[in-house]
Amino acid sequence: MHNKVWKISRKHNILVLIDISLINENLYFIKTREKGYENKSVKEILHEMMGYTDFSYFSGRKVSCTRGGGICTNRKEIYMQMRDLVPLFEGFLTYGGMSVREIEAMAVGLYETLDMDVISHSPQFIKYAVDALVAKGIPVVTPAGGLGCHLDAGGFIPHVPQTEYPAGALAGALYIVSGVRGMERGTISSVRDEKGNDILADVELLRLAFPRRVFTLSQVKYMEDRVTWLYENRNLIGGLEWVEEPPVLRFFVGKLKAKTNWPEKLVEKFRKDFGDSL
Ligand SMILES: *Cc1c(COP(=O)(O)O)cnc(C)c1O
Repeated sequence: MHNKVWKISRKHNILVLIDISLINENLYFIKTREKGYENKSVKEILHEMMGYTDFSYFSGRKVSCTRGGGICTNRKEIYMQMRDLVPLFEGFLTYGGMSVREIEAMAVGLYETLDMDVISHSPQFIKYAVDALVAKGIPVVTPAGGLGCHLDAGGFIPHVPQTEYPAGALAGALYIVSGVRGMERGTISSVRDEKGNDILADVELLRLAFPRRVFTLSQVKYMEDRVTWLYENRNLIGGLEWVEEPPVLRFFVGKLKAKTNWPEKLVEKFRKDFGDSL
């Protein structure tokens, strides 16, 4: 593990905040991949990692399957500084905010971060999905990581130009034929330049995220099955255009529509192959 950032920060008196929203997978990868850590416990690795930081932030949805999130520190002076801000943004320190029930569930979730079975779930399922799709020649990002399986829309549907948002189109197509919801990580997630032109993204990806402990293997196999069918019928997928484009963070709530009637044609082919099972 590198502590270079920590050393520099001490020299220049800079606080180090670590976002530990994906700490489970980081711990899993350090334990399984990094030399010298294979025989250390997950707890020892976590303690070493946190030793190189002043405070940490996490999303409860990610780390502990709870609502809300947390900011943690064992440094009193940092706690005191943050404490004074809580009434400004949240409410008084001893009421409001998260319910005790939620905080208790969060504590359980944090302890489970030390359980190898829990932290290996997402990486193993993602690896399964990536390997299965690679074996079929379907373009995905390799090697498998800890957040999700990323379909390479540029390789999947090269006939859709980037100005018609291939990753977004693939997200729509996959949803239509499977109900699987992916996240566009391409030009839609990018912005426009000062002249109003799209800044084309370096890669057009569809992220199929694997939230911890949410999916079973049969659901992953279902996704594999539908992605395979979609790949075989990829020529039917067309482009998208904006209907409603927010000026900032347009990928969150913006609306797009198909440029042609390709979704209808996709459904038609699906019905031909599978009957009325949509
Ligand atoms: C998801 C995520 C966040 C944001 O999480 P919220 O649940 O929206 O608060 C922040 N950092 C990382 C690294 C994440 O993966």
